[in-house]
Amino acid sequence: MKQVDPKRISGIKIARGVRRQVKADVAQFKETYQVTPKLTAVLVGDDPASQTYVNTKEKTCKRLGMDSEVIRLPADTIEDHLLGIVRELNEEKTNHGILVQLPLPQHIQTDAVIRAIDPDKDVDGFHPDNIVGLQQNRDCLRPCTPLGCVTLLEEAIGNLSGQYAVIVGRSDIVGKPLYWELLHRQVTPTTCHSKSKPLERYTQEADIVIAATGWPNLITVDHVKDGVVVVDVGINRVDKNDASSQLLEWRRKDFDTKGYTLVGDVDYQAVYEKADKITPVPGGVGPMTIAMLMQNTLKAASLQVSDYKK
Ligand code: NAD
Repeated sequence: MKQVDPKRISGIKIARGVRRQVKADVAQFKETYQVTPKLTAVLVGDDPASQTYVNTKEKTCKRLGMDSEVIRLPADTIEDHLLGIVRELNEEKTNHGILVQLPLPQHIQTDAVIRAIDPDKDVDGFHPDNIVGLQQNRDCLRPCTPLGCVTLLEEAIGNLSGQYAVIVGRSDIVGKPLYWELLHRQVTPTTCHSKSKPLERYTQEADIVIAATGWPNLITVDHVKDGVVVVDVGINRVDKNDASSQLLEWRRKDFDTKGYTLVGDVDYQAVYEKADKITPVPGGVGPMTIAMLMQNTLKAASLQVSDYKK
């Protein structure tokens, strides 16, 4: 039998549990309301990574008993056309969740598109109403990756109250919402960014370090204290010929035939020695993000069903 590593926080395993619960809740929801939750993803352009993400989301929805559709638009789609599609989806009663896959082509204002989405259908949790809802700790749709991070942490170490956490990265989709998720769980969070120098001044004090920067191996063994809990959000495609891949000797077997592999923002092998718990990449936060999206789609459907009943 495969040995379970007690230090390694398996996002694959925890996400499986979340999906199982969502599947059961979806079945119950369908029986109660005779409505099938539906997610529609809108994909503009042909970025291969975005296509992969959207396909995975569509497949997962279907596996959990929900409907799913992908609207594929060419890269030169004008903003007004995209806004028109979003407004139609807002009106469509059989559609409960809208996900506009980011990044959008540069000629489209991402903010305008996000603001056009009905907040009750905003399964990414990026609409300003949902951001304020998160800050005020209201029951609303919340960004999936930060929600995935706190779910992983609670599964791994239980109640987070009283912990000191340092978040490295202040993006709108990960770092900032994560601050609020942690604060609402009685954690004391600090947000660091590219101008927080030296970074170790903050991270060395932390009980929990969450890295979300997009820089391979930014967090080294010198950045953390003994017994730290580490969540690595980063997903970085590294070429085995890059200088930074020296640190990846132990991952040689993982390089694909084209000479690439995926790593996080944390020097996993070295930090593992000091950490109490740590998430791997891949297999950590990534699967949780999709699981949270599934949870949000069902939640969006619930919000709308209760609206119809008012
Ligand atoms: P972003 O580029 O929008 O933000 C990066 C942040 O990192 C910025 O706030 C910047 O100030 C900070 N930063 C950059 N260099 C730094 C340094 N040297 N020291 C301290 N801070 C520094 O990125 P994002 O969209 O938040 O994504 C971050 C990473 O997480 C990427 O690798 C992305 O692919 C990954 N990601 C993963 C998931 C998932 O589901 N696992 C979801 C979203 C993003």
